[in-house]
Amino acid sequence: MRKLIVIAGIAVIAGIFLSNATAQDGGQGAPGLGDPFYDRLGNGGYDTLHYMIDLSVDVNTNTISGTTTIEAEATQTLTGFNLDFAGLKISDISVNDVSADYSRDDFELIVIPATPIEEGATFVTVVTYSGIPTPYPDPSVDGFPIGWLRFGGTIFVMSEPGGAMSWFPNNNHPSDKATYTFEITVPELYVVAATGLPVDEIDNGDTRTFVSEMNDPMASYLASISVGDFVRVDETGPDGLLIRNYFPTDQAEELTDAFSPTGEMIAFFSDLFGPYPFDVYGAVVVTIPFGGALENQTLSIFGTDAVDEYTIVHELSHQWFGDSVSPATWDDIWLNEGFATYAEALWAEYLDGETGLTDYMDELYDYMVEEELGPPGLPDSSDLFNGAVYLRGGWTLHALRLKVGDEAFFEILRTYYARFQYANASTEDFIAVAEEISGEDLTGFFQMWLYDEEVPEMPE
Ligand SMILES: [Zn+2]
Repeated sequence: MRKLIVIAGIAVIAGIFLSNATAQDGGQGAPGLGDPFYDRLGNGGYDTLHYMIDLSVDVNTNTISGTTTIEAEATQTLTGFNLDFAGLKISDISVNDVSADYSRDDFELIVIPATPIEEGATFVTVVTYSGIPTPYPDPSVDGFPIGWLRFGGTIFVMSEPGGAMSWFPNNNHPSDKATYTFEITVPELYVVAATGLPVDEIDNGDTRTFVSEMNDPMASYLASISVGDFVRVDETGPDGLLIRNYFPTDQAEELTDAFSPTGEMIAFFSDLFGPYPFDVYGAVVVTIPFGGALENQTLSIFGTDAVDEYTIVHELSHQWFGDSVSPATWDDIWLNEGFATYAEALWAEYLDGETGLTDYMDELYDYMVEEELGPPGLPDSSDLFNGAVYLRGGWTLHALRLKVGDEAFFEILRTYYARFQYANASTEDFIAVAEEISGEDLTGFFQMWLYDEEVPEMPE
């Protein structure tokens, strides 16, 4: 653990040094953003504004072809810049309609425009590519392949944390969010479920093009499409919110039932945290029992064996904590998973009152002690989604609630959400809000819950 902190410190300092040096002189944008766990994810020198992902998908051969168009603003004078993009064959790159030079070094795509881009200028990069996407063996999930995945006749995308570069070139870090348009063309038998508001479905004869718009800022790891034999089932949520679910055709009836509490859950969290962040929500269920679910923005994805009420509530709560407020860097992952775990307990409290809450948290506490779960604020870079960031992360929030009282606690959650929505927050940001609202010095409290090795005693 200690070694990890030292490495993290060096990476951050190197990142700052690099971006300062290039910002003054102009030059190539930095190949990373100084994330302590991923020094080469994300790139410096620009902010992305909008992605247009226009792809044809041949489901039988798992081949894609098309373009990704990236509108970005230069934050320094750029003689060149990097994108993150793994595998696939590039046939052309243009910047502002002029063909650009490029080279590749593992997943770094180094683009050299014909003329430098002035600091502050908006520029448009079009990457034309094709091939069979290769899932990315992410080191933080022990080399488990993520990103573009295909099993049987179903294609789906689960990218957290680094997999987005397996299917489109991007600035692959949650700290650079952008809006998106998806234009995905598939054989007419298939249906595309994409993150964002569905705005059009174009019949091309043998194929159909599904268009959706993500109108709010999104981290690239939360961009997703699924292609399969789905039926779309619409519901209306609170204040007329569109809930569009995509279920495997042969399971549509039972899944419609299973997801029916979604609207009530949205109303509950909207009251508790602040208004639902996006203009649409829903779930896609893929016919693969991969034993999990992921909170893709506006469209959580579930394996067939992961459809249960508490997983549904967990992924929904991530729309506030994870998607709208995203981690500043990946070592802040407990801000996603601890919050979503505690949201499950809040739902238990909503359903069964204080007993529901206490039973839920007591069970987590026993497990935490039994497994000797370590500090959630210091996750292992090779095991990002470990039990501690979920359970001890969730318990950190419960312990805070017991310490400062219900009124201050929920005011902390609402203030933190309001302040960092559609953006990013670090653990320090959360602690600062907690201290500001409660008026207490919480240094010792957070040290004990987030950073000390030993599981703290259960608060009174
Ligand atoms: Zn989660």
